[in-house]
Amino acid sequence: MSDWRKTACILCSENCGLEVKIEGGRIKSVRGDDAHPESRGYLCQKAARLDRYQNHVDRLDSPLERQADGSLKRVSWDHAIAGVARGLRRLRETHGGQSVAYYGGGGQGNHLGGVYGASLREAIGTPYIYSALAQEKTGDFWVNGQLFGRQTCHVATDVSQAEVVLFLGTNPFQSHGFPRARRVLNEIHKDPARTMIVIDPRATETARLADLHLQVRPGHDAFLLAALLGALVEEDLYDRAFLARRCRDSEPVLAALREVPVDAFATRSGVDPAVLRGVARTIAGASSVAVRADLGIQQSRHSTLNSYLEKLLFLLSGHFGKPGCNSLHSFLIPLIGHSPEPESESSIKTRVTGMHAISKLYPPNVLPAEIDTEHPERIRGLIVDSSNPIMSGADTAAYRAAFAKLELCVVIDVALTETAQFAHYVLPASSQFEKTEATFFNLGFPTNAFHLRRAVLPQRPGTLPESEIYRRLCVALGALPERFPILERVARADRRVPALRLFPLALKAKLALNPKLRSQLGLVLYQTLGLALPEGAQAAAVLWGAAQFYAKRHPAAVRRAGITSGRAGLGEALFEAILTGESGVEISTHLHEEMWSFLRTPDRRVQLCIPSLIEELAALATEPEGADAEWPFMLMAGERRSYNANTIYRDPSWRKTDSEGALWIHPDDAEALSLSEGSRVAVVSVGGRVEALVHRNAALQLGVLSLPHGYGLEHPETEGGPRVRTGVAVNVLTSAEHCDPRTKTPFHKGVPVRLEAL
Ligand code: SF4
Repeated sequence: MSDWRKTACILCSENCGLEVKIEGGRIKSVRGDDAHPESRGYLCQKAARLDRYQNHVDRLDSPLERQADGSLKRVSWDHAIAGVARGLRRLRETHGGQSVAYYGGGGQGNHLGGVYGASLREAIGTPYIYSALAQEKTGDFWVNGQLFGRQTCHVATDVSQAEVVLFLGTNPFQSHGFPRARRVLNEIHKDPARTMIVIDPRATETARLADLHLQVRPGHDAFLLAALLGALVEEDLYDRAFLARRCRDSEPVLAALREVPVDAFATRSGVDPAVLRGVARTIAGASSVAVRADLGIQQSRHSTLNSYLEKLLFLLSGHFGKPGCNSLHSFLIPLIGHSPEPESESSIKTRVTGMHAISKLYPPNVLPAEIDTEHPERIRGLIVDSSNPIMSGADTAAYRAAFAKLELCVVIDVALTETAQFAHYVLPASSQFEKTEATFFNLGFPTNAFHLRRAVLPQRPGTLPESEIYRRLCVALGALPERFPILERVARADRRVPALRLFPLALKAKLALNPKLRSQLGLVLYQTLGLALPEGAQAAAVLWGAAQFYAKRHPAAVRRAGITSGRAGLGEALFEAILTGESGVEISTHLHEEMWSFLRTPDRRVQLCIPSLIEELAALATEPEGADAEWPFMLMAGERRSYNANTIYRDPSWRKTDSEGALWIHPDDAEALSLSEGSRVAVVSVGGRVEALVHRNAALQLGVLSLPHGYGLEHPETEGGPRVRTGVAVNVLTSAEHCDPRTKTPFHKGVPVRLEAL
């Protein structure tokens, strides 16, 4: 029996639409789905071996419970759910709900189940959500909040239409970050009327396609960006009309930039001042400029300042809210929330380190310190969903020491991860190809799309979708009834005759009668409307509410995307389109002028001045260089290459090249240390030591090293066999202390290290 089914790739935030050929329970072939509204048939080499995620010897097929001797024993679902609920109840009653934290809630391809995790957090009474996003992007989100009024105001980049594209600390040839990245890069490369500028310490694949590569010194992005902005102001190249109409408080920003010593900062950043001034003129003279930034500047020294300067670049030059530029976009379901400022009374701080949330997320960098302490209000319980913080958090040793002290650790995942090795309960989730799934990386503007994927393979026996795991836990905690017979009947009636529209009324009445259920709304929808949806689509129920809100907020944009309102209303029509659009569906097409209504400042203008960052900008001039003879090399930790992805690919045999994730070093540095190609060397940091395979690579600057992320996982070669580690677990070298003071984002792109001969 063979079949081609529609699904999506789960390896990066692009989530390209795929068609997969299934044979005998295996994903035999993979091809791009031409009908997908964003990827349009595109895919990269990483998706070809997705069967190694679906089928490998470490996949779980039974809940596991930690025994007194330390072993993990297979137990029934009823036993595991009762045990977890008992543990959570004990912590809640003895130490309060805030003694339990939640980590993750979805990776690059699975956000739908995590929505229901909110119901469990409410049932426990914890505000503490830790997420890998909060070691990457919270500086960026915080700046958005300051400029645009809310941290949920997120910026989209219209790379495909831009005359000039500026890539900052990103290598989209490998990391993608926008639809059909390699095709778009090649189009720009071949088009003499368009210009691609790359700012990156490495001569990456993208830099090689660029018209201009500014090879900035690692950790010096703030100097380069300040110089670029300083040149815009000094040469009177900024857009006065745009600032007057669309921004307020621009004068202090312009004044600070007038003080920037342009040529000295350019030189300090490693870039010829004349070249930098040429870039400023190119940006000012272009009809459209798209600035795309990523972890290269966000996980680097001055990371929050970098995000601010990056945004000032497109704001001061007036390239915002226009075709081919950066714009805010709408969300069907926001990926992030908004948190009050730390000084606000409503800011909820962590109990030990006093860290505040940004976008409702707490940084993984403080999590070990919140656990590994005698503080009476420490974190004692942790629920980890679809994440592997032992491997992905900075300072692996600190994570291991802290997790060993947890009184209750629950891991929900498809495989026995390194984090699951610390769990008291491991709850096996169905794979992303065995259930209805979606991601909330719907970041498009002017057109935005959403892809609800249906299962392409039967659910592996012994596993459950996350939504069902959360429902069972909430029922066991007494926060949710088993069934809602009347609501369920009404939902079925509405599904048969949509024009009835009785379900919204019945739901409202139920919530009015029992207000406590509001905190369980997602699971109430799951257990009522969800049961009336086509078989296997129960988890999509929460999208019904999102579709109603979205259609109400953006009716014209939804209609422009081709969604037409029937008798049941536009929200129902949008939900139906999502439910039945097996390749994904365009949910909105906005006009650029509408974008200004997305700003959440009182007057819908950009609040240009962020005083604390203007101070940080001014302090750059007196910042010492800080060379340290003990650590002569700068390691860029966590590079994206051809054969690394997120850690859900656990079976190392998926890689065709770079099987160990070699340490890249400039040939002259290698020569000086007598390191031949393929030899081994120890990399030592203040936090740890690893041994790595040497690869000489002239793409790196002298004194700079690179290691990829996603390696160092343990995987048995045969079922039940010994676990073998492949490649370097790079977070052994990284430190939680070496981070942005405001956000705690670690400076992974500049870890001081030395090399020692073996
Ligand atoms: S890894 Fe990213 S770009 Fe490549 S196929 Fe998957 S989703 Fe698309």
